[in-house]
Amino acid sequence: MKVTDYFKHANGKLLVSFEVLPPLKGGGMQSIFDMLDPLMEFKPPFIDVTYHREEYLYKETPEGFYEKTAIRKRPGTVGICASIIHRYGVDAVPHLICGGFTKSETEDVLIDLNFLNIKNVLALRGDARKFEVKFSPEPGGNASALELVQQINSMNQGIYLDSNIVNGNKSDFCVGIAGYPEKHYEAPNMELDLQFTKAKVDAGAHYIVTQMFFDNQRYFEYIDKCNKIGINVPIVPGIKPLTKKAQLTSIPRQFYINMPSDLVNAVMKCKNDDEVKLVGIEWCIAQSKELKEKGAPCLHYYTMGDVKTISKIVEAVY
Ligand code: FAD
Repeated sequence: MKVTDYFKHANGKLLVSFEVLPPLKGGGMQSIFDMLDPLMEFKPPFIDVTYHREEYLYKETPEGFYEKTAIRKRPGTVGICASIIHRYGVDAVPHLICGGFTKSETEDVLIDLNFLNIKNVLALRGDARKFEVKFSPEPGGNASALELVQQINSMNQGIYLDSNIVNGNKSDFCVGIAGYPEKHYEAPNMELDLQFTKAKVDAGAHYIVTQMFFDNQRYFEYIDKCNKIGINVPIVPGIKPLTKKAQLTSIPRQFYINMPSDLVNAVMKCKNDDEVKLVGIEWCIAQSKELKEKGAPCLHYYTMGDVKTISKIVEAVY
């Protein structure tokens, strides 16, 4: 079923979903099952699986030169989605990124998803490769999430890259996109960022999942701003708990978001990361309860592999 159909048929009940990362290359599917098995008691209608771009590694050759090799450290998104659907009978949402793909390769992935009867995708641009300053698309690839949404929407209309294909099979993808309550870091200001988000919705995106935030007010204001410019699709809050003191600086650096003073002060008082985890869980429960009360369609938890912590939070909220 499509993600948006779950929202439509929820009858006011708050849904829960989880996001998981493929294991590092060499790992097995069991690690994903070990993580998801305990979370299934919360009956998530869908599970997101992230996509990871290749990284460049420099390997020394026997001659003493350095050879640049591209390695995808966490492959397997599509296979993991198929496996999740098969094992649990829930839907899986593969993330699709522009980076590292030509449009033709993206089309092939979409065809695979269509044949697997996977009805949902989260369309993203992706970030620059590690050690690269700026995102650059593959030659012949999509340069932005907007272009990716347009490509998916074309396939939904039976239009393929090869214009010789007539009466092409129409896919029926439900398309999610990313939204940033605290602005995407590259956007010159919030207004323009929102206009770009609206362009993705106008191009056929059906719902938005937000970047994580720790201050609910940012999410509520974001919804207001979206609604004001005519973005009326469901906006799913993406959240995660703080679990380590070091995250006070690593999360803002990586995700370009602010930490509310009350949370920062509480974490600063902690003597160790066990105490930080307790603060983080308590904060995330309070955040979740308020989001529930104010009518969020679904709470989307970034699990980051920490199933015990996420379970404690969801147990307290649902
Ligand atoms: P876009 O919508 O293309 O926007 C990127 C930037 O370009 C923004 O600043 C936007 O304002 C600007 N922009 C858009 N259109 C235009 C235009 N026409 N002209 C000028 N500027 C424009 N990354 C991964 O690699 N794998 C994942 O699985 C993954 N999952 C994610 C899930 C969620 C819920 C979120 C919020 C992010 C995820 N990301 C993931 C990170 C994401 O790829 C990065 O945040 C990336 O930098 C931007 O992606 P986007 O889809 O928002 O890009």
